[in-house]
Amino acid sequence: MTPKLRSIRTEIDKIDEELVRLLAERMDAIRAIGACKRDDKDAAILDAPRERAVAEAWAKEAEARGVSGYFVGRVLREVLNWSRRNQEATLGRDAEATPKRLRIAFQGTSGSYSELTIRKLFQIRMPGEEVTRLGRHTFKDAMAALLAGDADYVLLPVENTIAGTINEVYSLLNEHPVAIVDEEAWEVEHVLAGLPGASLEQIRTVRSQAVALQQCHRFLDELGCVAEAAADTAAAAHDLKAEGDPTVAAVCSEEAARDLGLDVLKRGISDQRINLTRFILIGHKPEPFDDRLPARTSILLSVNHRHGALAQCMQELAERGCNLSKLESRPLPEAPWEYLFYMDVEGRADQGPLADALEAMRPLTNRLQILGTYPRRVGVANDAVPMATPRTAQEEKIEEPAAPVCKPNLNLKNVARHDDTRTVVRVGPVEIGTSRFVLIAGPCAVESRKQIFDAAAMVKDRGAAILRGGAFKPRTSPYSFQGLGHEGVEIMQEAGRAYELPIVTEVVRPEDVDQVAVLADMLQVGARNMQNFGLLSKLGTVQRPVLLKRGMSATIEELLLAAEYIMAGGNHRVVLCERGIRTFETSTRNTLDLSAIPVLKSRTHLPVIVDPSHAAGRKDLVAPLALAAAAVGADGVIVECHPRPEEALCDKEQALVGDDLDRLVQALRPILESQQRHMDSKAPNEPDDGGPCFNGF
Ligand code: PEP
Ligand code: MN
Repeated sequence: MTPKLRSIRTEIDKIDEELVRLLAERMDAIRAIGACKRDDKDAAILDAPRERAVAEAWAKEAEARGVSGYFVGRVLREVLNWSRRNQEATLGRDAEATPKRLRIAFQGTSGSYSELTIRKLFQIRMPGEEVTRLGRHTFKDAMAALLAGDADYVLLPVENTIAGTINEVYSLLNEHPVAIVDEEAWEVEHVLAGLPGASLEQIRTVRSQAVALQQCHRFLDELGCVAEAAADTAAAAHDLKAEGDPTVAAVCSEEAARDLGLDVLKRGISDQRINLTRFILIGHKPEPFDDRLPARTSILLSVNHRHGALAQCMQELAERGCNLSKLESRPLPEAPWEYLFYMDVEGRADQGPLADALEAMRPLTNRLQILGTYPRRVGVANDAVPMATPRTAQEEKIEEPAAPVCKPNLNLKNVARHDDTRTVVRVGPVEIGTSRFVLIAGPCAVESRKQIFDAAAMVKDRGAAILRGGAFKPRTSPYSFQGLGHEGVEIMQEAGRAYELPIVTEVVRPEDVDQVAVLADMLQVGARNMQNFGLLSKLGTVQRPVLLKRGMSATIEELLLAAEYIMAGGNHRVVLCERGIRTFETSTRNTLDLSAIPVLKSRTHLPVIVDPSHAAGRKDLVAPLALAAAAVGADGVIVECHPRPEEALCDKEQALVGDDLDRLVQALRPILESQQRHMDSKAPNEPDDGGPCFNGF
């Protein structure tokens, strides 16, 4: 260290000492004010105008000295919070009656969040008193220490903003004649602690309490280590220290790491930025506190069987303006389908509106037990002090953002939806993605010239817009009919021309794409090929629209990325198709994922259609699923049909005949009308440039 650096640091140390000395002096003055307020029962504890005046004075001083107003405001907020809590300590408590040595039981070891919270709370409740903290293995053991008289109080967590309610603690409250006398919140900030000198790259195993491991799930996943559960966060740190293995780390509080001389390898490792735990302090009997302090009351009740009894209890509270901050129900093991309710209400059980409400609630309940009335410290906003200082002239020049800006998804550059603009894909003269609901119909496979011509006649008559038929069939078994190949495509093209229907047919190999693209109006990528990236890239280079079917085990994200392959190659004419995914269900060939349609519509501007035939594999289910597809906003359906299903070489169980198609179209019409959509090539009264497109919901 250079002499200059050393001398500056000496200077800083002196300033810090002075800062702490001044803070201590300020706290002494605060306690003196507390003593005045104790004697003057009319004085308010929270003096908002006074706090605002102090904030303004700090802001002005900061500005004059060129210090950030925001920074000074943050410091002041902490100072005022702590001052107010210090005043509370001198109010209302009978100092003579409280023992000079206190023993507080908790679950865990030193450095656990419970133990840290005891340190925080008792600096307020009993400043200067000797507080012994008794760590126990379980909540039950900690409660037992109170019941046996080994401890004066027990501090237990009741809820966490991420993990929720801690039911075991409520069960203990239900079982024992104790009283809640205080509450405190702790902001949980997990760190990853390792042995001195250890590095993040070395770590192979991470230990902590199970809930803490869950709360850091994302970070631990990325780290790729083995997670092992320990009794509590601090115990994991203690074990690590004792074992001395540099490949092991612990998730614990920064305080635990510091107390044990461990290195903090990483801070800010929780999945959620805000992670608060509320603790309650439990004693043998209720304790009075100053009437001017905000209060909370915890209640335990079970209602009698009369219809609406719980609702009426709530009503009694609401009518008197009693704010309910928590309501939790727990089953009563000894009485199936009966519940015990835990409530937290603002106010005092023995005074004012809450006392009246409780009186009115009593006849509606089988049991109504007050668990305690105690100072409300959690969730009390400090409204009096503005977060930042008043704006200066310079700060007035703030430009507000015009509209929320979405983070662009770089992986889905071409596919992602940015606004309400939808892509319309043209297949010959047919548009997919407008207010016209497009019916694509035809056989599974091209089997013969006669079969295709009969099929084309059949579907044209029933209002289909596009003819389907597979010439290259990707069959699961190598011994099944594989299709007629290029000859099949030629037959399709002839039938399409004869009946004025654009045709869609599947390609399975990149080397067939150019030749098929000459004859077909649309190229299909089947479910089995959705991630055939060579094929997708090839399709990106042709001037033909692509019908991209979702793989049977593909996620929506993977479907979108497959579309991105095609679009990244330059071909932007892509239509997505949901065709059922593989689940544990065996009564249908696949499970039609209907939610995929609105999800896709929210994520991409591309049109989305549904294939109910391959989803169900049963002809009786094709129509109901097609109707559902229309109802959830699909731009069309592709269905298999055959002039003589009994002769079909492929998928005969799911093939519709002409009458089935007729019925389907009839049933679709009212659904589409209710959405201002239609099935005809031109809607009634529609101008030539197309009507509004249906954007789902
Ligand atoms: C088809 O449409 O002919 C087909 C085989 O469908 P999928 O790829 O969805 O199974
Ligand atoms: Mn088929």
